[in-house]
Amino acid sequence: MQHRDTLFVHAGYTPDATGAVMPPIYLSSTYAQPAPGEHTGYEYGRSGNPSRAALEKALAELEGGHTGLAFASGLGAMTTVLELLEAGSEVVTIDDLYGGAWRLFEQVKKRSSNLNVRYAPPDDLDAIKQAITPATRLVWLEMPTNPLLKLPDIAEIARIARENGALTLVDATFSTPALLRPFEWGADIVLHSLTKYLNGHSDVIGGALIIKDPALGDKLRWLQNAVGAVLSPFDSFLALRGLRTLGLRMQRHSESALHIAGWLAEQPEVENVLYPGHPSHPQHALAKKYLPDGSGGVLSVRLRTDAEGVKRFTQALQVFTLAESLGGVESLINHPWSMTHAAIPEALRREKGIGPDILRLSVGIEHPADLIRDLAQALKTLQAG
Ligand SMILES: *Cc1c(COP(=O)(O)O)cnc(C)c1O
Repeated sequence: MQHRDTLFVHAGYTPDATGAVMPPIYLSSTYAQPAPGEHTGYEYGRSGNPSRAALEKALAELEGGHTGLAFASGLGAMTTVLELLEAGSEVVTIDDLYGGAWRLFEQVKKRSSNLNVRYAPPDDLDAIKQAITPATRLVWLEMPTNPLLKLPDIAEIARIARENGALTLVDATFSTPALLRPFEWGADIVLHSLTKYLNGHSDVIGGALIIKDPALGDKLRWLQNAVGAVLSPFDSFLALRGLRTLGLRMQRHSESALHIAGWLAEQPEVENVLYPGHPSHPQHALAKKYLPDGSGGVLSVRLRTDAEGVKRFTQALQVFTLAESLGGVESLINHPWSMTHAAIPEALRREKGIGPDILRLSVGIEHPADLIRDLAQALKTLQAG
């Protein structure tokens, strides 16, 4: 078994008949067939495409799954996986859920498929266990959650789900196969937004599902074609190219984020930092269990200031860019209250602990000293206020 860093560089592709060391981009939408009812493995570009197949094979190899599937977005992957369920099915998930998943559950699938979704806090194992019943078809987790960076105990939850006949899905967008292997902890399906770390360069929108069981993988491959939200050949090429450096990037993201979390925790303008890899995190022991090689590049920070101060701080930053999304080589900062989580009703945001004083940082691969210098000069604008 090769080291993961080696797999990142080689997974999914070996030089083809031309000897091309890097995979070509196949744009053709259809494929010549030798006889009616026979084909070469490819017939029509939605059903299968060699550029997409290379990425899908790489994803399956990296997660240790049987089937990899690439979609036009993370939401496209989510929409497709929900089509496994019959109308009226019950899903158990976390209350600190990715906003797009919440919107899909509550504002689309509830109406169109009578989906019944039950929520429990990701860090309250007993509450999650109690929410799972024999009526539950799917348990949907994120590791870690966003923006509060909480850690569900995947192994315990997957065990209870299995006992109740439910599948467990882990959205591992924030941790990636470089840091977390959900199948080793009992998950059935891994979901990624390729848009974030896997592509890693903020120039592709894409999603993925990786499935452990071959029969379930075949069902989802059938649904991928039937629903049709597939990733384009060019974006498949870019995402696979991004994947080649994932090992190096995640190491740097994790080291820098831990360093910055430690520095921020000591600043007088900071109320607290939320980062699983930092000893101040209430679930630091679980971080050591599930994310022993690093906690990734996302951290949140509560500032001791008001809305005006948050605005001054974000506008003073010069290396960090104020923008939604995360996982690129460049550092970004996001204000969940007014940006990524603004669609959640205000009372619910406050109840969940997503206040206007929280900022989420996506720590890039720039030199950490430059990132700290940038944060330090922007924190000074709070002293002035
Ligand atoms: C961004 C994101 C998604 C959605 O992915 P898109 O590619 O934007 O559709 C899903 N889950 C998590 C955790 C994300 O951060």
